[in-house]
Amino acid sequence: METTVTAAELTRQDRCDRCGAQAFVRATLPTADGMELLFCGHHFRAHELKLVAAGAVVQDERHRLDEPSYSASV
Ligand SMILES: [Zn+2]
Repeated sequence: METTVTAAELTRQDRCDRCGAQAFVRATLPTADGMELLFCGHHFRAHELKLVAAGAVVQDERHRLDEPSYSASV
């Protein structure tokens, strides 16, 4: 099934840039190099307003926190 998501899904290897917890949100900044930032749910909430204000494209996969295969590792 086709989706509008162009970036790869986040994996267990993707870690929050701030604390090292598993990342569930990827924010791509509108810069020339398309800098990506990864956040856990906690730190995304802390930075969400600034990211949106900066025009970042947010890929939010926090719904996956509810999946047993992920919550078991948190
Ligand atoms: Zn974090």
